[in-house]
Amino acid sequence: MLDVSRHFFPVADIKRLLDRLAALKMNRFHWHLIDDQGWRLEIPGYPRFTEVGAWRTLPDGSRYGGFYTVADVAEIVAYAAARNIVVVPEVELPGHSMAGLASYPELSCSGKPEAVATKWGILDGVYCASSEPAARILEAVLKEVCRMFPGPWIHIGGDEVVRTRWESCPRCLEKIRSEGLNGVEGLEAAFFRRFLAFVQSQGKTPLGWNELFEHSIPKNIPVQWWHRPDLAVKTLKTGNPLLVSDVAYCYFDYPYVETDPWYIKSFMLLTPVEKVYANPVVPPGCEALAEGIWGGECCLWTEQVPPSEIDNRLRGRLEAFSEVYWTFDKRPGWPDFRSRL
Ligand SMILES: [Zn+2]
Repeated sequence: MLDVSRHFFPVADIKRLLDRLAALKMNRFHWHLIDDQGWRLEIPGYPRFTEVGAWRTLPDGSRYGGFYTVADVAEIVAYAAARNIVVVPEVELPGHSMAGLASYPELSCSGKPEAVATKWGILDGVYCASSEPAARILEAVLKEVCRMFPGPWIHIGGDEVVRTRWESCPRCLEKIRSEGLNGVEGLEAAFFRRFLAFVQSQGKTPLGWNELFEHSIPKNIPVQWWHRPDLAVKTLKTGNPLLVSDVAYCYFDYPYVETDPWYIKSFMLLTPVEKVYANPVVPPGCEALAEGIWGGECCLWTEQVPPSEIDNRLRGRLEAFSEVYWTFDKRPGWPDFRSRL
């Protein structure tokens, strides 16, 4: 997974990354296209997503941003396909949505103008969970995304949703009351049910981050697990496919060693290459359920990663990750790997 919202990566950089994946027999590219700090995907019929949402104003007053046109997407999808790689786009819902809210204020509970985020972290921006016009726009976005990406999977995000705005939205509170939902958590569950079903109605398989599975999720929805072993166990017990992106082993924006200049001690883990190679693959408590593991994915979040840093962050770790997942319990061992690397 590459996050292109926090930093924008030109098409040439994406192609170079796809070359590296192909060389390591990695066969999926999860493209995190939308987040608080930038909307990076042209949506026909909705120009403000890229006129407004793709740009943020930096403290010095300059604008930072960029986006991929429909033609860019077709070029990248074809380039990936020629290398046996399926592109999985992510349309993050309903949180991490400041760029979407800045583009179309009617997507929010208040309808008031907002700005594309310039701060990192978990922000309170969230799409209104009860506005029918907002839902229609999001469905139109998903429909275009399903059309643009020929692969079978569409990622709808679902992580780190802050529900406080829903608690003071008269429309959201009325929906909770009239439909007998279990508070804002029930409202969130209803929101996910609608959009999971919508993606399925377009002939695609939706997937999401493990927070989605705090609610009950229909059969056959793959869950991307990054933290909380209880949710991995729950996913496998209900027979849903589990995609493993364990934050302790698979987040390659994290530094290798403490002396790396971008290390932020309060939340980052250290991820040296040897640790990536020691990834147990099976989440804690899932040993008896390991047959249900669908695969693994490493993630490059880019708050601290401009395009010039990408090679540094992947060096050694991408090779280790690929070997771990292609060999699993037959991996040759760290000294052997290190000498080949
Ligand atoms: Zn609302």
